[in-house]
Amino acid sequence: MELNIALLKGDGIGPEIVDSAVAVLEKTAAKFGHKFNFTPYLIGGCAIDETGLPLPQETVDGCLASDSVLLGAVGGPKWDGLAGDIRPEKALLGIRSAMGLYTNLRPAKLYPALRGASPLKDEIVGGGFDILIVRELTGGIYFGDRGYREGKYGTEAFDTEAYSVTEIERIGKAAFEAAMKRGKRLCSVDKANVLESSRLWRKTMHEMAESYPEVEYRDMFVDNAAMQLVRDPKQFDVIVTSNMFGDILSDEASQITGSIGMLASASLGASKRGLYEPIHGSAPDIAGTNAANPIATILSGAMMLRYSFGLAKEADTIEAAVDKALNDGHRTADLMGTDKGKPLTCTEMTEVILKNI
Ligand code: NAD
Repeated sequence: MELNIALLKGDGIGPEIVDSAVAVLEKTAAKFGHKFNFTPYLIGGCAIDETGLPLPQETVDGCLASDSVLLGAVGGPKWDGLAGDIRPEKALLGIRSAMGLYTNLRPAKLYPALRGASPLKDEIVGGGFDILIVRELTGGIYFGDRGYREGKYGTEAFDTEAYSVTEIERIGKAAFEAAMKRGKRLCSVDKANVLESSRLWRKTMHEMAESYPEVEYRDMFVDNAAMQLVRDPKQFDVIVTSNMFGDILSDEASQITGSIGMLASASLGASKRGLYEPIHGSAPDIAGTNAANPIATILSGAMMLRYSFGLAKEADTIEAAVDKALNDGHRTADLMGTDKGKPLTCTEMTEVILKNI
């Protein structure tokens, strides 16, 4: 397979971690007889420095012409004083909207070898857990009608949660299909005991579940889901939920893994093309020191192979190479916890993973 991948390295540790992921993707391509062509484009602070804009049109065009996009991170203190609409972070919303990405996939996986990093007790997380949160990204209360009006107690502000059947169906499809590629268990999280929009959400999900008889489907109220995530995270495989509930639950789920340098994400739309990126930022405090953990970006590359290109064996190979590196005791500085000894640099961790492929 020959595929074109746009690279948005961005700022801070972005270039270091994207270079690591590219090395891993290239080795995987060579092993399985594929060819990946990488083209870098500017985004974020470095784009502002060169062009005056955080998201130049050339970058948008390049991403839309590619088969998929790998992003590092944007931002840093150098650009913190700029006005809101020319800040580096503005480019993230811009590229997601230009690419029409309405599904956010966020895995929260606790590797057994790293269980000491989780804030949860050993008896809860022993053996690790592996959850995928599928969050609706462009609808719901963050995009609904809002404003001020005169109410019973004077001036009040309001925001509106609204979901159409079409919006629910397209996120539902992404979730059921993700569940089919994983453990075939899907939990839909809503607030159908109170919200009308959640009742439509639940009804639509139930109708869709009939088309996926292999998927074990259930519903859960969001307040219960928040509690169950810390009480027994191992019960979950895939969770699908609305924009706001997903925003909150995906942060909760990532925190219980305890390791920000490990977590990948994918944003997808109607086409196979997606935007893949680590969930962390540009870590300006360690940029240029070769201390960054490249694993979140490497795993984002694996997600790209799985979800955009349908290359499951290749994605499994990368994930197994990361598992082996961790099981063999290799750690970057952020993963050291109470371990003594010298942490690996970003380059050294990348080399260990490359050897495992
Ligand atoms: P951050 O995620 O960059 O860093 C938080 C802490 O985690 C820092 O101590 C950092 O050193 C550490 N860290 C993060 N990633 C790491 C990695 N791969 N390996 C080792 N340690 C890692 O968050 P922040 O400090 O709040 O933000 C820094 C900049 O990043 C800001 O300009 C912010 O706006 C931007 N940001 C960008 C994105 C993005 O591009 N998607 C997301 C979040 C923040």
